[in-house]
Amino acid sequence: MRKKIVAGNWKMNTTVPEGVELAKAVVAESGSVPADVKLIVATPFTHLYPVAEAIKGSRVALSAENCADKEKGAYTGEVSAAMLASVGCQYTILGHSERRQYYGETDAKLVDKTRLALACGLDVILCVGENLEEREAGRHFEVCETQIKNVLYNFSEEDMKHIVIAYEPVWAIGTGKTATAEQAEEIHAFIRKTVAEKFGEAVAEETTILYGGSCKPSNAKELFAQKDIDGGLIGGAALKAADFIGIALSF
Ligand code: PEP
Repeated sequence: MRKKIVAGNWKMNTTVPEGVELAKAVVAESGSVPADVKLIVATPFTHLYPVAEAIKGSRVALSAENCADKEKGAYTGEVSAAMLASVGCQYTILGHSERRQYYGETDAKLVDKTRLALACGLDVILCVGENLEEREAGRHFEVCETQIKNVLYNFSEEDMKHIVIAYEPVWAIGTGKTATAEQAEEIHAFIRKTVAEKFGEAVAEETTILYGGSCKPSNAKELFAQKDIDGGLIGGAALKAADFIGIALSF
């Protein structure tokens, strides 16, 4: 049985006190969520330590939103995977479309980042997905396949136990437009097949694939009911504990 996950990506939102309050509210409401659903909050770097303290002893896990592509040294402004592990992160998101679009995140850099994160004991939530132009040109399968091959095909079956894939159609992120359940399932199944081609059916069956893109309590049930959708990476709706937990209750 593969893991069900609902992960909140806070992006560059909330001050530290607001973030701590949000994390505490998520913990307070988490008891209603079935035990087999993993809850994760991904926060800005500044929030990681105080949020780690706020969620200590709870079922909520901590994630970063990014990490450096270098191990350590003279890289001003960067935060390493080892630093993330040292403040209690269990996960890091990598390859979010906003990082690909605004910060020059390439697949090659993502290989380095993934390698460093795994070496430091972090699990990786790797984002893939096409933009609107690519979707309209019917290139969404090809784009996701290339991203997966360029990054994940460099890793081992053992590594795949520590990698979650998030399919995030860029045209659905923060836009209020959600992929239909059929559109999402079609590409999730394709992603699983792409994983199977390299790592085999058994690994593909165990790989958690999340949907991201304007997921909210009102549409999560239909999305999560799909065979190959194992949960969600949630942006906007993760900033309200009740909405985040509402999504987690949608399995
Ligand atoms: C995201 O950025 O990971 C995301 C899914 O955002 P939103 O839910 O706001 O579309």
